[in-house]
Amino acid sequence: MAAEFGPSDLLPRLKDQGYDAERVGRRRSWVERKTGAAFEHIGRMSFDSELTRGNIENPIGVAQVPMGVAGPVLIHGQHAQGMFYVPMATTEGALIRSYERGMVALTKAGGVQTAVLADENQIAPTFFFNDVSSASRFSEWAPANFGHMQEAASHTTSHGKLTAIKCYQVGRQVLVNFGFFTGDAQGMNMIVKAADAACKWIEKNFPISSYFIFSGMCSEKRPSGFLLTRGKGKRVTAGALLPHDVLKMYLHCTAEQLFRVWHSTLIGHLHANAIGYNAHYANGLTAIFIATGQDVANVVNASCGITYFELQPEGLFVSVTLPALTVATVGGGTALPTQREALQMMDCFGNGKAKKLAEIVAAALLGGDISMGAAITTGEFVAAHEHYGRNRPK
Ligand code: NAP
Repeated sequence: MAAEFGPSDLLPRLKDQGYDAERVGRRRSWVERKTGAAFEHIGRMSFDSELTRGNIENPIGVAQVPMGVAGPVLIHGQHAQGMFYVPMATTEGALIRSYERGMVALTKAGGVQTAVLADENQIAPTFFFNDVSSASRFSEWAPANFGHMQEAASHTTSHGKLTAIKCYQVGRQVLVNFGFFTGDAQGMNMIVKAADAACKWIEKNFPISSYFIFSGMCSEKRPSGFLLTRGKGKRVTAGALLPHDVLKMYLHCTAEQLFRVWHSTLIGHLHANAIGYNAHYANGLTAIFIATGQDVANVVNASCGITYFELQPEGLFVSVTLPALTVATVGGGTALPTQREALQMMDCFGNGKAKKLAEIVAAALLGGDISMGAAITTGEFVAAHEHYGRNRPK
């Protein structure tokens, strides 16, 4: 039977959308009365609630997520150079200790080399036609008119740039993938608006039946093979050679043992039909994303990547490659007070810092993947979680 539901059950609509402290408090009290829960901590904001406008609707307070720090990790990158301490917000015990161990091992090994290999966010509208031949004509016409689409898109953003177009015809439908440079922003708001302007130009200049701004192909916040091959946002890689003595001292294993974990778990990934291969990118990504104001749901696309190990006479070469890392140092949640402070800790807040952040994230994830592999091969995995990561109800 449907539950009773009336106007008094709807959240109060407050003047100016209710972002000031008084209205946030009123909404919070309303929810307390309605649910019987007490919000002693949710209501304790250390900053002006008006700052959350544009980041959240119906605000009632803050979710305080514990924040820790891992590192130092020494990076020799194109954009990140030096020693970094990485902020991580999580409730998973043992996680930060594990990342710290891996980062220290990498630092002791002489550091991590990093590189940003590509930088292009993707959005893929889809166009509908009456028949296959019209769709086919459009697939040839669209790339030939790319300059006009660039021009239309350019009026919507001063930082973004339409960089590429590729058409994929399916029957009488054409999925059009637009690639965009988005500067230091994650860019989805920016490129949806810019792509829509390009689509509207197309609508005026080619007889289409209709279009949708999203086809699903761009794989924003969804895992897919497209992410590995085409990429989304920053394509970044990080690699290091772990000498035998560092492996022994910091990871308590040999190069052969760590390689064997990597090699044998490939089978599990194949068996699961996994997209790419990694131990636990999602752990590090989620913790860094929460700490630094990234769109946390982008962990889904960003965690499609490849961890790759190679035995060498001097030790073990270890690497991670993330083709779909959507990170920002401008826009989204990056300017909120705690998130800004966390970015500043790595000198990664604001203009000109997004590629640097991408390289730091990749180096941190490499630390996480080698530490987890080492814990599995030495049998320390369960013990570490028993020691650091249990929270049985009191
Ligand atoms: P935004 O916060 O909406 O806008 C950021 C804006 O900052 C840019 O559009 C740009 O304005 C400006 N900017 C200033 N300095 C910049 C610099 N150095 N580099 C790049 N831009 C600079 O952020 P967004 O990155 O476009 O979008 C991210 C947000 O979109 C996230 O909060 C995410 O949650 C949300 N999101 C939206 C969708 C969607 O479909 N709309 C999907 C997923 C996520 P100009 O463009 O005017 O130059």
